[in-house]
This record gives sequence, C-alpha cells and structure tokens, in this order.
Amino acid sequence: MQEANVRPLDMILAKRDGKSHNRAELDAFLGGYVRGTVPDYQVAAWLMAVCWRGMSDKETADLTEVMAASGEVLELGDLPHTVDKHSTGGVGDKTSLVLAPLLAAAGGTVAKMSGRGLGHTGGTIDKLESIPGYRSSLHDDEFLKQAREVGIVITGQSKELAPADGLLYALRDATGTVESLPLIASSVMSKKLAGGAHAIVLDVKVGAGAFMKTEAEARALSRAMVAIGEHAGREVRAVLSRMDEPLGFAVGNAIEVREAIACLRGEGPADLLMLCLALASPVLEASGLQHDEAHLRSLIGSGEAYARFERWIAAQGGDLHAPDALALAPDQMLVRAPRAGYVGRLDALTIGRAVGLLGGGRARKDATIDPGVGVRLHAKIGDELKAGDPVATVFHRDGHGLEAATALLTTALDIDDAAEAPPLLVGGAPA
Ligand code: URA
Repeated sequence: MQEANVRPLDMILAKRDGKSHNRAELDAFLGGYVRGTVPDYQVAAWLMAVCWRGMSDKETADLTEVMAASGEVLELGDLPHTVDKHSTGGVGDKTSLVLAPLLAAAGGTVAKMSGRGLGHTGGTIDKLESIPGYRSSLHDDEFLKQAREVGIVITGQSKELAPADGLLYALRDATGTVESLPLIASSVMSKKLAGGAHAIVLDVKVGAGAFMKTEAEARALSRAMVAIGEHAGREVRAVLSRMDEPLGFAVGNAIEVREAIACLRGEGPADLLMLCLALASPVLEASGLQHDEAHLRSLIGSGEAYARFERWIAAQGGDLHAPDALALAPDQMLVRAPRAGYVGRLDALTIGRAVGLLGGGRARKDATIDPGVGVRLHAKIGDELKAGDPVATVFHRDGHGLEAATALLTTALDIDDAAEAPPLLVGGAPA
C-alpha cells in the first residue's frame, strides 16, 4: 500500500480529539514506528489517546491488518484444515498441549507459534521446553514439513511475526495502556492473522485471574476479535471460560505437561477436558471437519490423540523417555487447610505469582525458569475440607523462594461455611 504522508503529531491530535484514522494513516504511522522514524514518546501519547477515545470497528480491523502485515505472514496455503487457538492468558492453562493433538487427530493441521510466560501466566513454549530436546525454534521449511507430515508443529513466536505488536506491547506495558479493548483485540488478532490459519478459536478468560474481570468486558472483547477475523476473511469462534481458580490441579511447567498427558490418556481433570472439548468443537466445525463430542471423546479413548502427541514431540526433538524428562523439583511442602469448611476462593493470580517466586515464571523477559518447580492442588472451589487437610503440594528446589511463595499461597485460599464452584464455561453465544 502507498503510505500516506502523515505527521505523527497529527495522529496524536486527531485521536486526542476523538477523530478516526484511515488505513493509510495507520500504515504510515506504525510503519514509521517499526522502522524507527517515529519515536516511542509519540506512539506512547497516541496509545494513551486510543485508551481514552477508543477506535471504531473499522479502525480496529485496519490497525490489526497493518500490525499483521508489519512482518512475515505465514503462508499455510495448501495445508488441509488449518486451525489455531489463542487464550487470553491463564494459570494452569495447559489447554494447547491437549487441544493440538486432539485437533490433529480429528483431521486438522495445527501449525502454531506460541508465547512464553510473563508475569503470573504460563507460556506453552516454557512448558514444552521442560521436555528434554524439544526444539522451539525451527526453520520455515522444517516448520511446514512437520505440519504436513505430523499435523502439528508448535514453535516460539518468531520476532518476524507481527513485529509492530511486539514493539507496541512493550510500550503499552510501560505506559499503562494495556487495558484498552481495541489495543488488546488488535494485538491478539494481528498475531493470529499473521499465523496464517483459516479457522481460529479464541479462549477468552473471565474472572479474578484474567485480563477481563467481567462477562460484559469479555463478551465485548470476543465480539471485537471475531469482527476483525471476519473482516480479514477468517473463520473465528470465541469461547468464554472462567479463570478464577487455576485450570486443572497442576501449576508450573513440567507438572502441567504431566497433567496434559494424563488428560490425553483419559485420566485428566474434568475441567481441563471440558474446556478442550468446548474449544475443539467450534474450530473443527469452522474448518469443515467432524466435531461432535462423542467423536472427540473417542479420539482420546482410543489413544489416537495421545499417539499424535507423542509423534509431535518426537518430530520436534523432544524425548519423553529421557531420565530427566518432566522431572519435578525434589523438595516438597504441604499447605494445609487452616479450618474445616468449603473452598470458597483459590485465587489463580496469586497461585501463578507463587509459582513465579519458586522460579517457575519470569519477572523479566530474559530470566531463566526452573521447569521442575510448581504447585499441585488437592482441592478446588466448592470442595469440602477438614482442618489440616492438604490443599496444595509445593514443589521447590532447596527452599528457593519458598517462604514468599507459601506466604502468598495462604492468601490465595478462603474457606467458607458453604461454597459452590461457578460453571467453567460462561453460557450464551459470546459473539
Ligand atoms: N494478549 C495479547 O497478545 N495482547 C494483549 O494486548 C493482551 C493479551
């Protein structure tokens, strides 16, 4: 596209005064930012104006397409039934590890780039790297060959993919401009559009441990992202799920891969399986494949989904049978219920932070993580406990971070006289 001759200051003034930008203006402004000719401070001022003034659907779709086109766009062209999934971020969320083999066993092609964890949320790539040998960076030709032959390839997010989003995200993080619906929607969808899949399912988390604290906010975000996908000619579906307590019982890296494997073998936690089935159905339907629940359950029951997982990991160099594969940290400590009652709160955000303090997450992008540390819950919201019953096992290494982590964990838990677990899936059509 021919770039418009736009002064960055005029973009800031226009947005400050509530005006709309056209595609050419966004292209020139963000193109200049990626090339380094528009400085951070002007983009930061513009981001704050967007936070206050918002963007129309058309502007948001244009912004997303400009961001998606700012780098490499994966051409998955002739691969059959390309499917992708995105979660807005959770604790204990190992869904991709179960969903990818399930979708591939159902006939889909999952050629996906995933992120690393930052802050309290985990990242799929960190989890996969707890398998010795797993290669999270592949050349383009290896990536496409594996997608074609195995039906799954998952690598780390390439810096070449939607680089405008990488730059904007870091700036938003430092300028208090993350919480803006058009900015979140365009950030998520720019990576999905550049990722090339035709059918995309979005797991939009709602609750205390999620970006979106209320159902109304989550629905609005879902609608915006589905509209962007439609504008770009993709099939996008959204599922709203609760993120108040962690998903499943395991939080950490190796420990979450173990739980995902159990789920693929039909022995996983009910909430994790339910969410995977809820995400698989709409995206398979959108890509023209069989998607009823009985069929999906049969792919797990017959071992086909787990066999696909093993093929995928092996194809990417991972050795599930190595002596140190998925090893948990050797030291353990139990957190016990201070009194009898029902678990009323088991705060995902706090538990995610506690695992971070043990060394399982990063406070800085370049920090290394300990794949073996983590938390295994023994109870979930609504469960009845006696005083002294175990609530969580903490896996730590030589007490590193343990004192701070256990202090946090005790604040994550409320025991009430009566409590009921809220339903995992938020009802009603989200989009
Ligand atoms: N996840 C993203 O990728 N971008 C956001 O802005 C928020 C969550």
